[in-house]
Parts: sequence; structure tokens; C-alpha cells
Amino acid sequence: DQIRPKVEKHIREVKDFPKKGINFRDIMPLFGDPALVNELCVVIADHIRHTTGQIDSVAGLEARGFLFGPQVAIQLGVPFIPIRKQGKLPGSTINASYIKEYGEDRVEIQEGVIKNGDRVFLIDDLLATGGTLRAAADLVKKAGGQVAEAFVLIELSPLNGRSKLEDVNLTALISYD
Ligand code: 5GP
Repeated sequence: DQIRPKVEKHIREVKDFPKKGINFRDIMPLFGDPALVNELCVVIADHIRHTTGQIDSVAGLEARGFLFGPQVAIQLGVPFIPIRKQGKLPGSTINASYIKEYGEDRVEIQEGVIKNGDRVFLIDDLLATGGTLRAAADLVKKAGGQVAEAFVLIELSPLNGRSKLEDVNLTALISYD
């Protein structure tokens, strides 16, 4: 609760990025304050310990989920699983697809990183339409795991991504109207 305003101060609004009409929320200024990034990852790890409960791994979404996921996983001493766009991970993979504005996109994990019944904590920077996290949740299930919780720093409420994730325990640190 105390961390929310501190993080919020570092979120920059960039109009018309990546294209006209989009109000992009830039989280990168956060990383100019390493002590705060550390505090944030400790707070997320404590939240998992006290609220989420036991987890087997932290899975982060490419690319900005990679900025937080490994640090949270290290705090808890559990594996980090990268969820990547199709074609980036070597070896056998499991994938799930989702519809984007222009056509379909796929996310993947490497085979074997999630075991049957594993409780996986999903993390990304931001929830917009919810397509990305939906595909990630489907992927975890397809691999035999369950989503213990999905966590984002920012939720863009008007885009209603939450409605795509009704079966998922979803937490957002900051919500913008
Ligand atoms: P969704 O699939 O929910 O529509 O989009 C969420 C994904 O797009 C996330 O992986 C997130 O990183 C990225 N994204 C979409 N809009 C923004 C934004 O305004 N700021 C940031 N930082 N990421 C965004």
C-alpha cells in the first residue's frame, strides 16, 4: 500500500505511442531508482508468501515481465519461467495463441518447465485488453499447471482485460481509469 504512490510517481504517460491515439504508460523510469525496484520486488514476494500461498515458479511475460519476474523468483527461491513470443525459445515448446488487433499471436514456454499440478505465479508490467495474460494462463493450464495468481503493476481498467480473466486470481498494484 505504501509502495503504490512511490511506483506511480515513476510511471510516465507518453501520448501517441506506439501510434496515434494510444496513451502509453512507460514503466522504464522506475529503473532509475534501483532501491525502489528492489523494494517493489520484495513487496511482491511478501504478497506471495502471505496471500498467494505456496508457488512452484514465477513465469514472466516477454519483455517487461522479465524485468520483475526473476527478481521475485530469486526472493522466493523458486524457478523463473520465461514466456516468450513464438520462435524465440530453442528446443521443444508448448504454445497458446491469442487474437491481436492485426491477426494472431503466439506465446510459448519450453517443454518440461511446468510439472503437473504446479502452482505458477504470472507476472507482467501491464494489463490492457487482457489477450496476453489470457494466452499465458492458457499456456500454464496446457502444460498441466495452475495459475496461482496473475500480477500486473498496472491495469488499464477501461479496456476491461479483467473480463477475459474471470477464472484467474488477478492482482493489479495500480489501476488507471
Ligand atoms: P494486452 O494483451 O493486455 O492488450 O496488452 C498487454 C501487453 O502489452 C503487456 O505485455 C504489456 O507489456 C504491453 N502493453 C500494452 N500497452 C502498454 C502500455 O501502455 N505500457 C506498457 N508498459 N506496456 C503495454
